[in-house]
Amino acid sequence: MADVIDIAYDQADYFLQVALDRRQRQATTAASAEFCEDCDDPIPLRRQQAEQGCQTCISCQELRERRR
Ligand SMILES: [Zn+2]
Repeated sequence: MADVIDIAYDQADYFLQVALDRRQRQATTAASAEFCEDCDDPIPLRRQQAEQGCQTCISCQELRERRR
C-alpha cells in the first residue's frame, strides 16, 4: 500500500506546483484567462473582453466575492 500512497503524494505535489506556477504567471499578466482558474470551464469571450484580467468564470467570481 505504501507505493500507492507514494504515488498519491507525488501527484499531489505535482499538481500543487502546476497550480502555483499558473498563479504566478497570471499575476504578471493582465490578460484575461481563457479558462476559469477555479473550475477550468471556458470563460466566455464577452466576459474576457469586458473584464480585463479576469481569471474566473462568473459563478466562481461570485463565490470568491462571497468569501471575502
Ligand atoms: Zn469557474
